[in-house]
Amino acid sequence: MSRNGRKTVAVIGAGIVGVTTAGFLLRKGHDVTILDPGNPGEGTSFGNAGCFNGSSVVPISMPGTIRNVPTWLTDPMGPLVIRWGYLPTLAPWLVRFIRAGTMDKVQRQAQALRSLLAEGIETLAPLVRDAGAQDLVQRQGHLFVYRSLASWERESLAWRLRRDNGIAWDEFSQDELRQLDPNLSRDYIKGVVVRENGHTTNPHRLVGRLAHAFQRDGGRIERRRAVGFELADGLLTAVRCADGVLPVRAAVVAAGIWSKSLAAELGDRIPLETERGYHLMITDPEVSPRIPTADADAKFVATPMELGLRLAGTVELAGLDAPPRWRRARILLDHARRMFPTLRANYPEERITTWMGHRPSLPDSLPAIGASRRSRDVIYAFGHGHVGMACAARTGRAVAELISGEPTHVDVAPFSPQRFR
Ligand SMILES: Cc1cc2nc3c(=O)[nH]c(=O)nc-3n(C[C@H](O)[C@H](O)[C@H](O)COP(=O)(O)OP(=O)(O)OC[C@H]3O[C@@H](n4cnc5c(N)ncnc54)[C@H](O)[C@@H]3O)c2cc1C
Repeated sequence: MSRNGRKTVAVIGAGIVGVTTAGFLLRKGHDVTILDPGNPGEGTSFGNAGCFNGSSVVPISMPGTIRNVPTWLTDPMGPLVIRWGYLPTLAPWLVRFIRAGTMDKVQRQAQALRSLLAEGIETLAPLVRDAGAQDLVQRQGHLFVYRSLASWERESLAWRLRRDNGIAWDEFSQDELRQLDPNLSRDYIKGVVVRENGHTTNPHRLVGRLAHAFQRDGGRIERRRAVGFELADGLLTAVRCADGVLPVRAAVVAAGIWSKSLAAELGDRIPLETERGYHLMITDPEVSPRIPTADADAKFVATPMELGLRLAGTVELAGLDAPPRWRRARILLDHARRMFPTLRANYPEERITTWMGHRPSLPDSLPAIGASRRSRDVIYAFGHGHVGMACAARTGRAVAELISGEPTHVDVAPFSPQRFR
């Protein structure tokens, strides 16, 4: 560190988390290099549903989740798939996942998630403005729709957690839903709009614009793969890359699902697992919702984007290396037709694109934010699971504060990477 507190910092990973973190570090006057073997925003940040939902405080493992699993697994259209050959590898993560779903734990997790999610759009706004990317971020709310009172009641705990964490919403009856979105299936009997939520109309382009602004303002992006770290008495001296070393004083591991092996290099065994998800996009769709619309039972989101209608969802537990099963993406089209009956059953291939990505998930639905075990100079910022877009800004700002030796604007204790010991 120089006398004025300026550090040379490597940020490993150019997804939404890495690029946002790098932007905040640069604003604090550090000398920042992003390392990524690919282009910015081509990992999981590429194809997500784009939602900046401050309301996403509900952990994935909830009391009772395990009871739903058999129904989900036996339904070919269901939202969850486990590849059985992967089960022995997955088992320890699953055990932790189930244990994370007790009432007192989910209450604490929801509170911690809210601290990263609240005012996420406001926190990102200065970076978005400087990047001239305001056109890519909208704040018009998020609609949740229900087919039956039973499914609404099944989510009562989720809505209680939202209410307890200061989230407000408006409820719509069957008739009011019609007026809100006349294209929606008449089978929906209830809708809920959370107005504080927003979305990006193109997550890939958003990350690209933020990365471009970062470079314009003096940051560097190098196409290199980080493979390890060089330490001297617990102090970081360099990041080891596949093609040589980069001398730095601090580093941030923001490589999404690929962070696990980098953390292992520093003696941290973090139970990071991929919750594989899919999207299917329709260009020039016959209908599109005005705001992102989520079906509570089918567990997918239909988001209006600049390149068409994006249908995103599905959790597939099959590890990093198994090839995608594109049928999972096609199922999203069937679900969407039940949401918007005027969509076609089939589209010519040139109007459809599909994608699979890896949600970097920890069993308690909270990311890992904080110092590595072997060196306080290496800060982790990964494991954001289903909510990486929404949490990136506050994560990035907190990490920049940690590296600058300042108090963090969110309490990072619940996100300690050491909580899995
Ligand atoms: C179907 C789906 C829908 C989703 N919808 C939403 C949503 O609506 N809202 C929301 O908030 N979240 C959503 N998510 C989750 C969100 O996409 C992720 O949490 C987020 O993109 C993770 O960002 P990241 O920067 O941590 O990782 P990534 O975007 O995966 O970036 C990691 C980067 O690290 C790079 N990298 C890997 N290894 C190395 C290495 N050794 N050295 C250097 N660089 C390396 C990769 O090339 C990549 O660019 C969704 C996810 C899926 C799959």
